[in-house]
Amino acid sequence: MPSRVRLEGVAKVFGTGDTAVRALADVDLSVEAGELVGLKGPSGSGKSTLLNVVACILEPSAGRLLLDDEVVWEGRYRIADLRRLRRERIGFIFQFHNLLPFLDATDNVALPMTLAGADIRTARTRARELLEHLQVGRRAAAMPSRLSGGEAQRVAIARALVNRPRVILADEPTAALDSERARVVMDLLRELARAQSAAVLVVTHDEKIFDRFDRLVSLRDGRIEASAPP
Ligand code: ADP
Ligand code: MG
Repeated sequence: MPSRVRLEGVAKVFGTGDTAVRALADVDLSVEAGELVGLKGPSGSGKSTLLNVVACILEPSAGRLLLDDEVVWEGRYRIADLRRLRRERIGFIFQFHNLLPFLDATDNVALPMTLAGADIRTARTRARELLEHLQVGRRAAAMPSRLSGGEAQRVAIARALVNRPRVILADEPTAALDSERARVVMDLLRELARAQSAAVLVVTHDEKIFDRFDRLVSLRDGRIEASAPP
């Protein structure tokens, strides 16, 4: 099985000198195709930093990052078109949904697919299917300002999945959801991991969903403290 995501000795330091913060130190982590991994740890332990490093949003300070066994960062980025990499290979579900306010739910979901070259009708059809699947199909024509927090989060999840990314990253995706909807989202992420051979890495505090992961990784002070089945 290929490693979809691999970090080798990854460090991340914010700032310099006396005010430097070591957010990640010597992190070794692999996520395989089809694997659903939970990332937990106290506030400030480096969970979001780790996700942003994998997403090529934050540049590491040291170590190596590989996606699909291809070196993406080692001393510098080794990929010319990072925006394309993020758009086509990575699905990021943020803690706060950041939908575009001037597009309805369907077009928010369809946008990354049209940016990747799909025609708008195909993209909208897929967007509606995903919204149905996430139980928010009724809201397909709604503008983001008319959506509840939970609805907006599910639209954002659909948007992250529209290009069938092989790496799916989510920062507390179920925080705004009740436990029934949290379960639907987790089941969908699991199904996607299996069906698309995707690596799914989810930051969560939610003990109710710990048992849905293949593996739980605990971070403390920027280091991996434990990595084991739940
Ligand atoms: P978590 O998501 O586990 O709560 P973070 O990854 O957000 O933790 O933060 C890890 C550490 O890095 C914290 O000490 C935080 O204050 C620091 N940090 C995060 N982002 C920045 C930044 N942009 N500039 C400076 N320090 C940061
Ligand atoms: Mg965080």
